[in-house]
Amino acid sequence: MSNTKELDKKYVANTYARFDIEPVSGRGSRVFDECGKEYIDLSTGIAVNTFGYCDEEWIKAVTEQMNKFQHTSNLYYSAPCARLAELLCKRTGAKKVFFGNSGAEANECAIKVARKWAQDTKGEGDYYIITLKNSFHGRTVTTLKATGQDVFHKDFGPFPEGFVYADSDSVDSVRELCEKYPCCAVLMEPVQGEGGVVPLSVEFVKGVKKLCDEFGMLLMVDEVQTGNGRTGTLYAYEQFGITPDVVTTAKGLGGGLPIGACMLFERVENTLGAGSHGSTFGGNPIAAAGALNIISRIDENLLAGVRERSKYIFSALEGKKGIKSVTGLGLMIGIETERDSSLVLAECIERGILPIKAKSKIRLLPALNIPMDDLKRAVEIIAECAGA
Ligand SMILES: *Cc1c(COP(=O)(O)O)cnc(C)c1O
Repeated sequence: MSNTKELDKKYVANTYARFDIEPVSGRGSRVFDECGKEYIDLSTGIAVNTFGYCDEEWIKAVTEQMNKFQHTSNLYYSAPCARLAELLCKRTGAKKVFFGNSGAEANECAIKVARKWAQDTKGEGDYYIITLKNSFHGRTVTTLKATGQDVFHKDFGPFPEGFVYADSDSVDSVRELCEKYPCCAVLMEPVQGEGGVVPLSVEFVKGVKKLCDEFGMLLMVDEVQTGNGRTGTLYAYEQFGITPDVVTTAKGLGGGLPIGACMLFERVENTLGAGSHGSTFGGNPIAAAGALNIISRIDENLLAGVRERSKYIFSALEGKKGIKSVTGLGLMIGIETERDSSLVLAECIERGILPIKAKSKIRLLPALNIPMDDLKRAVEIIAECAGA
């Protein structure tokens, strides 16, 4: 019998309330625990395993690079990093990309870009960044402060200054902050993930874009969770009819390896110069080779499949007994249940499916290519558990 749980409890920092499950192997959307129990995976390691577990094409791309070299440092050029940056720019219209290793680092980069851009073009004092209430932007000291939820602002102060929070879906609330504070940027998630899978409205996002033009601010979108095909387009902002100045992403970009990206559009393409930012591991060749494989496979055909699966989930769950609401975009879905969602979740796990939670909702983040049969079976179980 494995003693992983004992060791973890004794030696790993107590920062996670883990489920009582130890996955030991996986294939596609199926995962097996230490007792040999099989599950249908609906969370992909929080939107990370874009094509599920042990995807063969991705493994091939990663191992080919591993057999060449694993790391060289950013003192030298490296093909996977350069080719990934090219692909991201060609697919989005961004001009340049900075690579880090996580979502928080991608957002740290965006925040540094906004601050420096403001100094270069507006003046020393215009450092305020507007984020939204109920947002989530990361766990570093600065991205905690960027996160618009009071619970994250306890215990670790003092925090960096210069973040103010608007009501999501109130353009007036953003305008009030623009008038009150010297601002350089707005940073927001197209769908608030950790906040309970709450999509912003197109009207709101367009309204914010207008304010950005009026007040000379950058529009920065945090696509750490919504990016890389998750919502049915390569990046979710495409569905809101705006072009941002900065897009951050991570999670699904690497398909399971740590990589984050901060994409810089025209207005800020030259804001960062040599020495102004950096990362030892950023753009790591193995992670970048994996990401190159992932992004090159997110084509129109794959995205149509994401939208089709999404439609199926909404139609199978909306209005069903025990289900109050279904929200989200693409394969990023939040389900509000009448019963306590923790109980529903526990029953789902018992019955062999693995969704997660977002606030008080059940959250689904399945692989973008989850087989329809697995998805149907999983959705049936959710409906049964919610309606019980
Ligand atoms: C997960 C997440 C982050 C943080 O990413 P890490 O890789 O954990 O640092 C930031 N923003 C959003 C929207 C996220 O979902």
